[in-house]
Amino acid sequence: MIAAQIQDVRARIATACARCGRPAQSVALLAVSKTFAAQAVAEAAQAGQLAFGENYIQEGVQKMDALRHLPGLQWHCIGPVQGNKTRLVAEHFDWVHTVDRLKIAERLSAQRPADLAPLHVCIQVNIDGGPAKSGVAPADALALARAVATLPRLKLRGLMTIPEPAPDFEAARAVHASARALFDHLNAEGLGLDTLSMGMSDDLEAAIAAGSTMVRIGTAIFGSRAPK
Ligand SMILES: *Cc1c(COP(=O)(O)O)cnc(C)c1O
Repeated sequence: MIAAQIQDVRARIATACARCGRPAQSVALLAVSKTFAAQAVAEAAQAGQLAFGENYIQEGVQKMDALRHLPGLQWHCIGPVQGNKTRLVAEHFDWVHTVDRLKIAERLSAQRPADLAPLHVCIQVNIDGGPAKSGVAPADALALARAVATLPRLKLRGLMTIPEPAPDFEAARAVHASARALFDHLNAEGLGLDTLSMGMSDDLEAAIAAGSTMVRIGTAIFGSRAPK
């Protein structure tokens, strides 16, 4: 069942790309496995899916330990990172999408073990300005990106957003387009970003139309999550 859902999601990505004249390979699929057991991840890996996103750091690390025998898995931290969790992230994950403060980035760089590749980083941007939301304000993204880009054990890859659900496709596309414009602006300033992490199960088509390069898909692959 997970294999079939992955195929369906890949087909949705391909269709969305075709509609706006983009190659299907220009959008990476991150399977968001939070709350699902290691067995579900193993099933997805069997179907060829290797990149997984986890929100809860401890839970993610437990799954990594349980799946050590599977080669080639890539783990992305997509949940909030508090200061007391940076070491776990730095020692276990391949990517983190949720850096929104220099302090956290500095700790991640300092704690990244020397024998691991640099930690790939996206800066989370509060693109629609929700007051209670994580993410740097769009106006502060350039300065934070420049500072993160200088940290030796991090590799700045791009931006990540989690906009509020929009009422329709056009509204969703417009919000995603403002993230894409910010991404293009940072690249015009020389940041060399290649990853724009945006779009989830309900809005992946709008995100791709606006220029997302990585969609983070949970429900459409693994099913609905039990309420917390
Ligand atoms: C849970 C989650 C997702 C996946 O959401 P779905 O709607 O289940 O596809 C993507 N990104 C983040 C940051 C999440 O927390």
